[in-house]
Amino acid sequence: MPIAHGTPLERRKNEKEITLPDVTLSTDDGRRCADLIAGYMAHRASRADIEVVTRQLGRYPRGIVSVASRCRVCGTPLVVVTRPLLREGVRRPTPFPTTFYLTSPEAVKAVSRLEATGVMAELTARLEKAATAPDTVDPADAGLLRSMTRAHLLYCRVRADLADALGDDITHIRSVGVGGMPTRVKCLHSMVGQSLAMGPGANPIGELALERIHEAFSPDVCRCVLRVGDGQAPGRAVETDGSQD
Ligand SMILES: [Zn+2]
Repeated sequence: MPIAHGTPLERRKNEKEITLPDVTLSTDDGRRCADLIAGYMAHRASRADIEVVTRQLGRYPRGIVSVASRCRVCGTPLVVVTRPLLREGVRRPTPFPTTFYLTSPEAVKAVSRLEATGVMAELTARLEKAATAPDTVDPADAGLLRSMTRAHLLYCRVRADLADALGDDITHIRSVGVGGMPTRVKCLHSMVGQSLAMGPGANPIGELALERIHEAFSPDVCRCVLRVGDGQAPGRAVETDGSQD
């Protein structure tokens, strides 16, 4: 599976003269990330979780650590936590920036349909305008850039905490965003993954996407075709594009 690594923020800054708002994480944010990681380490993915996620993805979920979000009705994994450095196989360890990987076939499909409507280009235009011409921008767009910068910092913090807990060296991807964060929107799957994993207030674009796909997917409504413990029943592995970066 090809892994897209995203572009280091530092390089993009120089290329596009991007000005990011001055956002820092609060002590509460830090505690929230630490609590999440402690939970993941205490509740690792079970054999049954891995089995159902394998069927969701149509392949073994390399580097799976835990389950970050489940269907609130049947408990089937919706998002898995993936370690930041994949060690399986004979190749050298591979950095994997997408910590929160959306696995629910129903969610993946609904988000892919939303992506096809062109919403990402529209959001990216708003964010890039706010980042390149901060003095003339609409306050709503400036606000969106602020909250996406915070979403990016939260993502990087949680990934760094996870790397520390697992002993993974992630020097090379420490500030690498996912899905184009913070100034681009390249992959709504990873934004939705963050929103489902971290809850309201973490990623505004993930939340917007969840609102728009509500008719097709919601963590509160069970539409799960594949469920934990259904391994013996005839199940259909649903291919995902594997390109959540
Ligand atoms: Zn369900």
